[in-house]
Amino acid sequence: MGLYSETNRAKAVQRPNGNLSEENECGDDGLLRLLLLGYNLRFVFSEKGRRVVMHELRLHNTLSGKTESFVPLRAGEVKMYTCGPTVYDYAHIGNFRTFVFQDILRRYLKQRGLKLTHAMNLTDVDDRIIANAAAARLGIREYTEKFAREFFADCKALSVETPEYRIRATDHIPDMVQLIERLQKKTFTYESEGSIYYRIAKFPEYGKLSKIDLTGIQAGARVDNDRYEKESARDFALWKAPKPGEHFWETEIGKGRPGWHIECSAMAMKYLGETLDIHTGGIDLAFPHHENEIAQSEGATGKPFARYWLHAEHLLVEGEKMSKSLGNFFTMRDLYGKGYKPSALRYALASVPYRRQLNFTFDGLKQATSSVERIRNFADRLRQGKFPAGLTSGMKQRAAKALNDFDAGLADDLNTAVALAATFDFVREANIAMDTGSFGQEDVAAAQEFLAAFDQIFAVVKDNDAEKLKELGFGAAQEEASDAWVESRLAERQAARQRRDFAKSDEIRKELADRGIIIEDSKDGSVRWKRK
Ligand SMILES: [Zn+2]
Repeated sequence: MGLYSETNRAKAVQRPNGNLSEENECGDDGLLRLLLLGYNLRFVFSEKGRRVVMHELRLHNTLSGKTESFVPLRAGEVKMYTCGPTVYDYAHIGNFRTFVFQDILRRYLKQRGLKLTHAMNLTDVDDRIIANAAAARLGIREYTEKFAREFFADCKALSVETPEYRIRATDHIPDMVQLIERLQKKTFTYESEGSIYYRIAKFPEYGKLSKIDLTGIQAGARVDNDRYEKESARDFALWKAPKPGEHFWETEIGKGRPGWHIECSAMAMKYLGETLDIHTGGIDLAFPHHENEIAQSEGATGKPFARYWLHAEHLLVEGEKMSKSLGNFFTMRDLYGKGYKPSALRYALASVPYRRQLNFTFDGLKQATSSVERIRNFADRLRQGKFPAGLTSGMKQRAAKALNDFDAGLADDLNTAVALAATFDFVREANIAMDTGSFGQEDVAAAQEFLAAFDQIFAVVKDNDAEKLKELGFGAAQEEASDAWVESRLAERQAARQRRDFAKSDEIRKELADRGIIIEDSKDGSVRWKRK
């Protein structure tokens, strides 16, 4: 269930880009409605029946080179494909920059009430996998299984949602063969020494995504590698004849194995149809991989393959390109081993808008840790604090403004920096209001509603880092104290204090501290607690 309830959504008029029109039951406030319309805003209802606004969603499309209004092919539905990892090693933080961006996009589309079908492949056959598996004297499946499993575990720790379809290339060889046969019939292919190549001269639009210059490219010049530079734009392999000792499949088009590019075309179209709404990946995939996907898919179908292409920029580490030789190459686990939490990593990766280069630094990671802490403290305070009865002037409107600004940021090509600024402005102002006694008990709901909307996207409020690290094999063996146990110890401590038994009360404080629970006595007599 998204922020916007199913029942209320049904009452509203669905617009093609997932915005809900204002032609619903919000006629009680004509002036506000006119004002909002002037800013091209739309009303929807939150779960609690309050009215909130959604802005027009605009996304940067690599294909057009422009930021465009996002309008799905079928109103209210989005078909999205993302290129998953090549499972020949652990995924690193550069990979996860892209996967976290895709997760933010996923979550935001759903928050807007769009019905999302998202497919992500696992590349479990390519040049590197074939070579590594052979070197390890393992079958391809055997070799990739471990890295696939570890990738899923890393996603889970980073709260990256599982796409509707998470599929493996090697489970789709017949689909790839069929697609190659389609291309053969339309004479997009030719054979050479048992391999089948795509003839790029036959597809005049080749290069339209990455805008490469094809002048001077010799017809018939071929490239066999799955990955290559722009300078070697050539006819590429769809199907590769096996080298001696290499793994191969026996198929209608001969013995061999698929090229990397054909797998994404075949799987995307199988699960999402011949025209997708969104195709995403890291910017390094735009050429040759995505260019080749377009040539294959559009060559076969004659229809546009993907309508919006979204690419995440590179990640740098302390200002330098990440590489094993520079010693600045990190997997998620490397960072957990240094004591950083999954929530801080997710936050750090999500906080820089996806089209900006992300300079990953340890200072930044420390800041991310304290930002997450601030949000969690605020959530605790809302849950556990005692506030004066009633509603205070302005706080409800302030929460509505925060929600509006948060949505405006994300609707503007997923500007997470703006969305986070809106969040922290609100947290700061609400904290000040609480400190000065001008936050009422009835303001809690609006603030919590905002926080829920924030967390549908950023997913860091729940304090479950210890649990996640334990699942990955890090962290203390001690069982985490349950909320109920903490509450009962606190009640006992409160009773001890009332009878002025301070020795007992100190003893309980220490017992809680030993279990990682920090307690704070506030001036109004209430007690707040949190996990370290
Ligand atoms: Zn792909």
